[in-house]
Amino acid sequence: AIYNLGSINADYFYHVPHLPGPGETLAATSMSRGLGGKGANMSVAAARAGAHTAHIGAVGGDGKWAIDRMTEFGVDTRHITTLTDTPMGQALIYVDDAGENSIVLLNGANFQIPKQTIASALSEASPGDTLLMQNETLSQLETAKMARSLDLYIAYAAAPFDAAAVTAALPYLDFLILNEVEAAQLEEATGKTPEALGVTDVIITLGANGARWIHSGTARDFPAMPVTPVDTTGAGDTFTGYILAARDRGLPMEQCIALAMRAGALMVTRQGTADVIPDLKDVDEARF
Ligand code: ADP
Repeated sequence: AIYNLGSINADYFYHVPHLPGPGETLAATSMSRGLGGKGANMSVAAARAGAHTAHIGAVGGDGKWAIDRMTEFGVDTRHITTLTDTPMGQALIYVDDAGENSIVLLNGANFQIPKQTIASALSEASPGDTLLMQNETLSQLETAKMARSLDLYIAYAAAPFDAAAVTAALPYLDFLILNEVEAAQLEEATGKTPEALGVTDVIITLGANGARWIHSGTARDFPAMPVTPVDTTGAGDTFTGYILAARDRGLPMEQCIALAMRAGALMVTRQGTADVIPDLKDVDEARF
């Protein structure tokens, strides 16, 4: 099973003729709301990939729809707490006619996940289960320590990148996943190549160029599936959910990477985020 301590956001998309400047009031031509947050996206991906996935998180009183949607998508939502005195996480995303965007983020309930919620979720975990975390919540270090004492497999997606957060987590990690930009930032911050971090498995996703797997200090590259991208948002989150779900099922890492690569490629051919993360059947049946 996978226990994912992660963010849950309401993504509000406003389509605007141009991005608003200081003091400007602008009419949106359309609006839509979707489930988002790296945490929720990864939980949905792992669940759709067939893993039992328990999300550990929090929303506000405004977040019932988000919990319902995650449940529909197959996520175990029993460890998502509803807080009454704070709004859920939000991303206000303005998208202009040229596809350019600007985003305002509110952490909201994601930064108030009660320690008790985390402890009670992990008390259900068995040795060998996976703890996954990203950097859109607090309590990462305490949770990693707790997970280590329970003999869990600890995976971390270092996004949004924060040098202090990832370097503090490093000693606890079995698995670290970064995109190319984050990998460069980490090398800059630590002065160490990914091979020298001391984490058993490091994955660097390379967009259309596939992914690099560094196992015990030795790197191997895997090419991406050839597709024409439509919308690359959520590709990394989908890849992460899939690779960990496959590992949780006991597949060897090469096969986990191959499956995650197919899921990521299929995802970039779809417009949208959590709502369109492909399920295992679609990924298996996709022809590239
Ligand atoms: P992030 O969204 O975190 O920046 P990437 O862009 O590296 O992550 O994408 C994650 C994975 O999704 C890649 O490793 C690859 O397998 C797949 N992917 C992303 N973009 C493409 C693309 N244009 N063509 C094929 N596969 C892609």
